[in-house]
Amino acid sequence: MPAQAAPQPLRLPSVDSLLRSAAFQPLAERYGRDALLASVRRLLDELREAVHAGQLGAIEISAPVLAGRLSERLAVQHASQVRRVFNLTGTVLHTNLGRALLPEAAIEAVQQAARYPLNLELDLATGKRGDRDDLIEGLIRELTGAEAVTVVNNNAAAVLLTLNSLGARKEGIISRGELIEIGGAFRIPDIMARAGVKLHEVGTTNRTHARDYEAAIGPRTGLLMRVHTSNYSIQGFTAQVPTPALAALAHAHDLPLLEDLGSGSLLDLTRWGLPAEPTVRQALADGADIVTFSGDKLLGGPQAGLIVGRKDLIAKIKKNPLKRALRVDKLTLAALEAVLGLYRDPERLAERLTTLRLLTRPQADILAQAERLRPLLAQAMGAGWVVAALPALGMIGSGSQPVARLPSAALCLRPQVSKRLRGRQLQHLEAALRSLPIPVLGRIDDDALWLDLRQLDDEPAWLAQLGQWPGPGANA
Ligand SMILES: *Cc1c(COP(=O)(O)O)cnc(C)c1O
Repeated sequence: MPAQAAPQPLRLPSVDSLLRSAAFQPLAERYGRDALLASVRRLLDELREAVHAGQLGAIEISAPVLAGRLSERLAVQHASQVRRVFNLTGTVLHTNLGRALLPEAAIEAVQQAARYPLNLELDLATGKRGDRDDLIEGLIRELTGAEAVTVVNNNAAAVLLTLNSLGARKEGIISRGELIEIGGAFRIPDIMARAGVKLHEVGTTNRTHARDYEAAIGPRTGLLMRVHTSNYSIQGFTAQVPTPALAALAHAHDLPLLEDLGSGSLLDLTRWGLPAEPTVRQALADGADIVTFSGDKLLGGPQAGLIVGRKDLIAKIKKNPLKRALRVDKLTLAALEAVLGLYRDPERLAERLTTLRLLTRPQADILAQAERLRPLLAQAMGAGWVVAALPALGMIGSGSQPVARLPSAALCLRPQVSKRLRGRQLQHLEAALRSLPIPVLGRIDDDALWLDLRQLDDEPAWLAQLGQWPGPGANA
């Protein structure tokens, strides 16, 4: 009888032999020996257990086969957690998807700032120590009429820092109609408390008058505050004190008026057919002493909080030790300067500033794109789905103009199943689209999945993965 007829115990290759084998070299090159070693050990342990449990049938245990298995595993483990996605939700400034997309000029500026040393805090004229805020102060003054500026991590930080610098241990007077909450637990009363400012609320939810503020002003008052109610609107029987009147009142008592614009805008957006949003220049011209706003909302730049206004007050804010904790990094400043620079040429702003270009894309343009892509998507989805190119309504997002809608267009996917099953079908599809190499995010509404194409810039990449869409199988 030949010896091999007796069942041989399955022998696993040694770690060393595997690491030396040709099949493992590309993996070592790609992931490094340490990472590879750890996963080889883990895999061999698993195989050993499987052998032990008698579960390992006809598996071939050769170096190339094991390398193949590890290659898949390592690819998953080492895949970046920060992933690009397609934002087809219809919300342009989507906080969960990173808000504003930077324009090319800012991307280049960020690359330069990342790659080379720069004059972040060095005055090149004198060779002395400089201030990072100076890098954008000239532009901000030009674009808003402000005397001075300081930049922090985001607008929440801007409000916190301003309140703490100007109103700590004093009272801040604010209308009850402006005690807002913005997503992510940013609530004006809480921020005030954290800033050490005692909230003195006046008026009512829908109506606040000058006499309400006046009656509240006393020896303990430190500032008056106005908050742009960016994420909701009160309609009907309402009254608020116009900024010029509120500023006059504050100044008559030698108090600063602080205005949190939230999104704010540097230019009047109605010239591009968008809903009116208060401009920073107007708020300052109306008498606000300090105005705060975000860098990555309508401004279309990097995440940042801009604090602009009176020079003496900005100086006070900059002296606050909190400023050091909240300051921005060089990449943000580089991007911000590039974005602000684009505002010098309003004529070409809608071409160059990505956010504005997306916000102003004409509906006809988007609908034409949807009609062009519809047959391709219909084919990919198969018979189980009806795909239509339809007008849709999107929104600006990030609390800007919550009521206003942007006329847009979408690919609308409707499952051809009984109404009872539609919900699950749609959720399946939504999940499958999230697991694509570049996840596609839409929104479910009215028993259909809507892919708003306003922001589908990179059509080639979108088309390239159409073959991996769930397709007819999703219907199973
Ligand atoms: C968005 C917003 C903030 C917070 O700004 P972030 O940049 O998100 O920190 C504060 N106030 C108002 C009125 C806002 O709309």
